[in-house]
Amino acid sequence: MKRRQLARDNPLARNEESGAQVVNARDRLPIGAEARGDLLARARAAADHAYVPYSQFPVGAAALTTDGSIYTGCNIENASYGLTICAERTAASAAISAGHLHIVAIAVSAPKVSRTTPCGACRQFLNEFRPGDSDMLIVLDDRNSGESVWLEDLLPRSFGAQNLQTAEAVADVTSLPSRADHGS
Ligand SMILES: [Zn+2]
Repeated sequence: MKRRQLARDNPLARNEESGAQVVNARDRLPIGAEARGDLLARARAAADHAYVPYSQFPVGAAALTTDGSIYTGCNIENASYGLTICAERTAASAAISAGHLHIVAIAVSAPKVSRTTPCGACRQFLNEFRPGDSDMLIVLDDRNSGESVWLEDLLPRSFGAQNLQTAEAVADVTSLPSRADHGS
């Protein structure tokens, strides 16, 4: 199996196209207004695919990875209610499934309620995939150009890989042996 291509490959090259600028400082937004607008537009479009026969509350999300790629998701409900999954987690899962472990920003759009924020479960899920040591930007749909908030503000004093002394943090995934190294 080919080793997964990680997001750190080229954090800036494609971002010039997308208007994204990846920086570590929390006091600076990691992407420009144009990129935030694009991300929000993708989240709004993704909400059209929401499968919400029970709540009738569609949500769309769009996750931006460090190489400028965008992965979208929508909420997907189930007759067994507990199996429902949120848009933020489907978007993040799409990014991770494509080999990107660092999400710079994620836009969230719920057509029925302005400024809908990620639920608690999604905040914890997203916390796992912050871009390195920096924070993740959350772009809320305010029906305008988007309200930017930091994940740290939505999930203060979070629990993560750093709390597990034996855990392989996301940042160290590249050091894990590939399947080839196991001879399989
Ligand atoms: Zn959620």
